[in-house]
Amino acid sequence: MRYLSTRGHPDRKRFCEILLEGLAPDGGLYLPETYPQISPAQLGNLRQVFKTQGYAALAYEVLSLYIDDIPSSDLRALCQKTYTEAVFGTPEIVPIKPIQTKAAMGAQVYLEALSNGPTLAFKDMAMQLLGNLFEYELTRRNEELNILGATSGDTGSAAEYAMRGKKGVRVFMTSPEGRMSPFQQAQMFSLLDANIHNIAIQGVFDDCQDIVKAVSNDLEFKRKYKIGTVNSINWARLLAQVVYYFAGYFQATQDNTQKVSFSVPSGNFGNVCAGHVARMMGLPIAHLVVATNENDVLDEFFKTGVYRVRGTADTHETSSPSMDISKASNFERFVFDLLQRDAARVKNLFHDQLNQTGQFNLGQDPLFAKAKSQFGFLSGKSTHADRLKTIQEVFATNQIMIDTHTADGLKVAVPLAQDHVPMLVLETALPIKFAATLVEALGREPNRPAKFEGIEALPKRVTLMPKSVDAVKAFIVQHCD
Ligand SMILES: *Cc1c(COP(=O)(O)O)cnc(C)c1O
Repeated sequence: MRYLSTRGHPDRKRFCEILLEGLAPDGGLYLPETYPQISPAQLGNLRQVFKTQGYAALAYEVLSLYIDDIPSSDLRALCQKTYTEAVFGTPEIVPIKPIQTKAAMGAQVYLEALSNGPTLAFKDMAMQLLGNLFEYELTRRNEELNILGATSGDTGSAAEYAMRGKKGVRVFMTSPEGRMSPFQQAQMFSLLDANIHNIAIQGVFDDCQDIVKAVSNDLEFKRKYKIGTVNSINWARLLAQVVYYFAGYFQATQDNTQKVSFSVPSGNFGNVCAGHVARMMGLPIAHLVVATNENDVLDEFFKTGVYRVRGTADTHETSSPSMDISKASNFERFVFDLLQRDAARVKNLFHDQLNQTGQFNLGQDPLFAKAKSQFGFLSGKSTHADRLKTIQEVFATNQIMIDTHTADGLKVAVPLAQDHVPMLVLETALPIKFAATLVEALGREPNRPAKFEGIEALPKRVTLMPKSVDAVKAFIVQHCD
């Protein structure tokens, strides 16, 4: 398997070459040259593997279709080490549960639980594997990596819990001082591992992101101090997410003649892009529902063909904050497939048109209609009021508390569910992470898993800094020997 760039760079790379990289050298995103096709016999075999050997074995089977530069026995061991009950809370890893809704008669709606990992958000599903892959590859190369990131909550904590104690890796994670929920701050700042460094910046999230960009743009510093990232454009993260679409499908169906749909609370389009990859491989998915919050860049595209990047001023701060995006960093991958892999056109849209005008319009292109008819995409949008109402209804009829992002997914999914096609809503976080909105909706605190009892009172390790690129660079230098 070789990987190419969505913007047409001539190089073809193998999995471990792109594992530690972000963007391709021409600014594009990496995708496999072709999607491996799953025959009906293979799908039956994968179902059997999942039923008899579990999630880790399924993960190995799916990953091995895309990774041919790690020996099979090593890759299998990495999967087994990652997807354990000890880390993900249940032997099923991603159990599904039916919920009662007002969906079309005959359409059963399920929640697929992806948020029982160490930081209670679905990002653990990929990040935990990434931590083990990074350690494996860095050891093999005898190299080190300093991961520099900016977080408003979920990504940073998932990265830190995945990389803590890993050989060859340090994490420098910036976050805006005082802006994360008390629970999120406690999760990150209570980590005392020597290779984890929390930096609270006196500014907002955009200031943190600007610092990370400035440091990464200093190519000499970047090379000398081996600066890397773990953001959602990383292909390995996306690939790890493909596995739970298969696991959801096998749990919701009896045999491979059936179809299911997925509803995905979306921000940077990483999660639902993994669903797209699964569908391209031949997993029988009817629809992929892209659910957005008030930041509806993606809903607008799927409704009209217009992709219009928002400015900082018109990006809303919402009660599903992990979906508050101004542009969707993985979206280029889907557009590449939609435009029949015309890299020159993708480059023109994402490099020239977006830079010049902040938008492009595919509404008049005959290929745009295929987003729905051929690729199965539907979309919808949810607001704060929808979120509260959905959380209340689910609690009243099912005695289940869902988080704000999952509520967006459910709200958008219900009217789009089809008769006799199970609809799986991906549960992207647990409610305790967003307690304030749960209290607003239900008048009570969400349940807290036992291992998080009292974390707000634990000792914290965090360095406060002004919004200064030089200060962050000096901190990295000081902690690199
Ligand atoms: C990151 C995140 C999302 C958005 O996922 P994308 O892959 O960026 O589309 C949704 N919900 C939660 C809770 C998240 O942490």
